[in-house]
Amino acid sequence: MNPIELYKKLPKKNCGECRQKTCMPFALAVIKGEAELSECPYLTGDARDDVQASLKKSDWREELITKLREEVKGINFSDIAEGIGAELKDNALVIKCMGREFIISTDGEITTRGHMTPWIKILLLHYIRTAGKGELSSKWISYGEMKSGMVKASSFQRECEEPLKEFFDDNFDKTMSVLQRLGAQTCEGFPTPNAFHLYLLPKIPVVILYWPKEEEFESKVKIIFDSTVDRFLDAESVIFLVEGLVKNIEVNLFLDKK
Ligand code: SF4
Repeated sequence: MNPIELYKKLPKKNCGECRQKTCMPFALAVIKGEAELSECPYLTGDARDDVQASLKKSDWREELITKLREEVKGINFSDIAEGIGAELKDNALVIKCMGREFIISTDGEITTRGHMTPWIKILLLHYIRTAGKGELSSKWISYGEMKSGMVKASSFQRECEEPLKEFFDDNFDKTMSVLQRLGAQTCEGFPTPNAFHLYLLPKIPVVILYWPKEEEFESKVKIIFDSTVDRFLDAESVIFLVEGLVKNIEVNLFLDKK
């Protein structure tokens, strides 16, 4: 399904109640995986089920999830649980991600309380499949210092650090409060007092640093990682993970406004 086909099935009220100004950007955002159909309060019942089914059929993410689930099926969870910081409960893995608990069964089925997007399923399955291990170093590195991070450093800045900076610039207190709801804690020992420590996944802590605008200096956000991050996810997946955090904050800020 392409954005035009999806647009045709939307209520076309152009009311902006879904985080987008009109229905067309909403259709685009859904196709890109940046918005969920449930965000449109006027698309309900059979109409929503019908669109959801068409999206699912043509969704590359669903294909990837099926492929990753097959790979995860062959993994002995008791061999990898400790290494990835997961808990083993009734043969299933329990993984905490941004303040929420996800349960992954031996056949790769994922359950949690509340709504779950395809990106989180992909990340969790990928994290399990990578099966990293080892202690965290507590040495912090930038995204560009990760293995293959240099090549994608400008994407990371554009897709992850820039939007976070805008949230902070717009409303520092609300952004901080959303981060705290996701499990972030303020921390010391960094070159700005606005430093927030957060576990995106059990072995992937980050520190988010924010400098507000000051005289001739523009505001800035820097996200740093434990130097062991490469063992648990590749550089591309890390962008995907932090983009998920950014979307999560955006949705929470939007809901707080309502
Ligand atoms: S809430 Fe629904 S009807 Fe309103 S702009 Fe968004 S997609 Fe269109």
